[in-house]
Amino acid sequence: MTNPAPPDRSLPDGAEDLLRAVLMGPPGAGKGTQAARLLRRCAGVHIASGDILRRIVEREDSDLARAARVIHEGKLIPDDVVGAIVFRELDRSEAAAGFILDGFPRNVAQARMLDEYLASRNCALTTVIALDIDDDVLVGRLSGRLTCMQCGATFHTRFQPPREPGVCDVCGSELVVREDDRPARIRLRLQLYHEKTKPLLDYYREQGLLRVVDGVGEEDAVFSRVAEAAGCLV
Ligand code: AMP
Repeated sequence: MTNPAPPDRSLPDGAEDLLRAVLMGPPGAGKGTQAARLLRRCAGVHIASGDILRRIVEREDSDLARAARVIHEGKLIPDDVVGAIVFRELDRSEAAAGFILDGFPRNVAQARMLDEYLASRNCALTTVIALDIDDDVLVGRLSGRLTCMQCGATFHTRFQPPREPGVCDVCGSELVVREDDRPARIRLRLQLYHEKTKPLLDYYREQGLLRVVDGVGEEDAVFSRVAEAAGCLV
C-alpha cells in the first residue's frame, strides 16, 4: 500500500507571496492590525472569525445569530458552527490567492477540522505565527479598546485615540466598547485562551509550522518580526 501524497506546502510558480497562514495570539495581541498590514504586502484575504460572528449577531435574525450571541459573554462558539462559517469564507474565490486566519482555529479540534478542509482542497497551511505577549500588557490594552462595528477597525482611548472621539477614522461609523472587552470578560477570554489555545502551539510545533514572534513593542517593530516570520519581505 502506498502512502498518500503529502499536502502541497510549496508555492506555485509566480506566486512567491502566497500565504496560507494562521495568526495566533491572545485577545488584544494585535492580530487584526498585523494581518491587515501583512495583506498590504502579500496577496490574500483576512478571515477573522470573531469579526464574522459579530457581524452575524448584529445583522442577522437567524438561528445562527441567536446561537452566536454567547460571544458577548466571552464564551466560545461550538466548533462545528464556527468551522462552517470559516470554511464558507475560505471557499470564496479570493481566498485562493492566499489567506490569513485570525481567531480560528482556537483549539486542537478546530485545527484538525481545518487540516481536513485544506486537504480536501489539496493544500495545507504554509505558516503559523503566534504572537507572544504577557497577560498584564493585554489587560491594559483591551480595557481601553474601541471597535468599529461596521468595518472592524480598532482604536484605543489612550494609545491610539480616533481623530474624532467615538467616530471611526476609517469609515466614519460609531465606535463602541465591545461587551467582551469589559474587565471580567477580558479575564475569562484570557483564561480560555490559555486553556484551549496553547495546546495548539504544540500541535503546530510538531508539524514544523510554528513561528513564535515577540508581540511586545511598537506596532512597526512587531510588524517587522511578523513579516519576516511570514516570509513577506519586500
Ligand atoms: P475575537 O474577536 O477573536 O476575540 O472573538 C470574539 C468572540 O467570538 C470569542 O470570544 C468567541 O466567543 C467567538 N469566537 C471567535 N472565533 C472563535 C472560534 N474559533 N471558536 C469559538 N468561538 C470563537
